[in-house]
Amino acid sequence: MIVAKFGGTSVADADAIARLIGIVRSRMHVQPVVVVSALARVTDHLLGLAHQCGSGDDAAPEASVTALVERHTEIARALPGGSTAIEHIVADAAELRREIAAARGRRLSSAETDAVAARGELWSSRLVAAAMIGAGLDAAWVDIRPIMVTDGRFGRATPYTQVLNKRARDQLTPLAKAAKISVTQGFIGATATGVTTTLGRGGSDFTAALLGAALEAERVEIWTDVDGLMTADPRIVPSARTLRAASYDEAAELATFGARILHPATALPLVRAGIPIVILNSKHPERPGTTIGPQAELERLGDSPIRSISWKQGITVVNIRAPRMLGTYGFLRALFEVFERHETAVDVLASGEVSISITIEENSRLELIVRDLGQLGDVWVEEGRAIVAIVGIGLRYTPGLAGRVFNAVWPANVEIISQGASAINMTFIVREEEGPDVVRRLHQEFFGSC
Ligand code: ADP
Ligand code: ASP
Ligand code: MG
Repeated sequence: MIVAKFGGTSVADADAIARLIGIVRSRMHVQPVVVVSALARVTDHLLGLAHQCGSGDDAAPEASVTALVERHTEIARALPGGSTAIEHIVADAAELRREIAAARGRRLSSAETDAVAARGELWSSRLVAAAMIGAGLDAAWVDIRPIMVTDGRFGRATPYTQVLNKRARDQLTPLAKAAKISVTQGFIGATATGVTTTLGRGGSDFTAALLGAALEAERVEIWTDVDGLMTADPRIVPSARTLRAASYDEAAELATFGARILHPATALPLVRAGIPIVILNSKHPERPGTTIGPQAELERLGDSPIRSISWKQGITVVNIRAPRMLGTYGFLRALFEVFERHETAVDVLASGEVSISITIEENSRLELIVRDLGQLGDVWVEEGRAIVAIVGIGLRYTPGLAGRVFNAVWPANVEIISQGASAINMTFIVREEEGPDVVRRLHQEFFGSC
C-alpha cells in the first residue's frame, strides 16, 4: 500500500486532475490511498470569506461562496463523470450559506471558521473521486473526519494517533485490499463529538504521513509543483537544484524554518517505522524526485557541507537583559512559563552573558508577553525579522562555518546566530527585507549559483 498526497496545484484544474488520474493508474499495483488538498488558493479564499463574516458586508461572503461553487462546477463539467461531484458540492454550498446566515452580524468562532475552511478539501476530494470513477477507476470517496479524530484546538488541532491508527486500518485497509482507491481529504479532522477541525496550514502533508504510518504504507508520495526538495526555494533562487535524498531530520529542520514544500510535522509519524517520503512533481511524474528517509546517503553537492537553505519571514525577536538572573536557578523556567502562559511557541534561542534572545512567529499576545517578562529584566522587541537556516548533516563535520556565513551575507547584518542541538542546522536572524538576498548570497557561497 502507498499513500499519495496531491497538493493544491496538483488538483488546480481539470488538466491537473486528469494528470493525477494518470499517476494513480500507474500505481494501482501498490494499492494507493489518495489524499487531496483543496484546489490551489481555495483555502485562502475560504479563510478570507470566514473573515468577512460579521464585518458588516453580508453580500461579500455570499458572493465568495458563489465564486467558489462556480470554479468547482466548471472543473467538474470538464471531467467525465464530474456531474455527481456537482450535486454534492451544490448541496454542501447550500449548507455553508445557512451557516454563514446563522452567524449574520457577528464574527465566526474558530470552530465555525474551521468548518468553512474544511470545504476546500471536502469539495476537491469530491471532484477527484468523481473524475476517477468517470475514468473507469474503482474509487470511493471517504470522509476522513471520523478517522482523523483530533483535540478541539481549532485551526491547529492535534490528531489522536492511537484512535486514528485503528480507525484508518479498520476502514481503509479493506478498501485497499479490494482494489478500491480511497479518495480522502488532507488538512481536516473532527473532535470525538464530530465537530470539524483543521490541522494548520499546509496540513495535508501531515495527514498523508499519519495515514502512511497507520497503514504501514510502503511509502508516502507527496505530489507537488516542483521536482522535489531543493537547495533553496526556487522562487527565490531560480538556479536551485533538486536533492535526490535527505534525512527526516534535515527535512524537518528545513520545513520548520520556512521551506513550504513540507509541513514541519510530516516526518514525525514515519520515523519509527522508517517509511520513506518521496516528493514528486505531478507535471513530470517520470522525474525521480527526492526520497526522505532514515538516513540520506551523503550525496555530495559539489563541495558543499550543507544541503539546503530556507527562510521564514514575519519573525519577532524578544530580548531580555537580566544581568543578575541569567545563570541563576529557576530563571529559564520562569522565562518559558511566560511564553507558555500566553500559548506562544518559541523558535530560536540564543543567550549571551547577560541577555537572552528568543524568536516568535505568532505575536498576537506580544504586549502581554513583554509585560510579564518585564518582571524578569529589561525587555526590548525587534519586529520585521526573518530566520534564515542552513541545514545539512555535513554541518556536523565542518567546523568554522559561521565565519563563512558572516562573509557571505555581508553587508547584511546577522543579528543572532545559533546552532541546533542536532548540529545539522545553523540559524540566524536578519531584517525581513534582506531575507531573499541573504538566501541568494548563501546559495552562491555554498552551491556556486544564485
Ligand atoms: P502543495 O500545494 O503541493 O502542497 P506548496 O506550495 O505547499 O505545494 O509547496 C511547494 C512549494 O514550496 C514550491 O512551489 C516552492 O516554491 C516552495 N519551496 C520552499 N522551499 C523549497 C525547497 N527547499 N525545495 C522545494 N520547494 C520549496
Ligand atoms: N489546503 C490547506 C492549506 O492551504 C492544506 C494544504 O494544502 O496542505 O493550507
Ligand atoms: Mg503544501
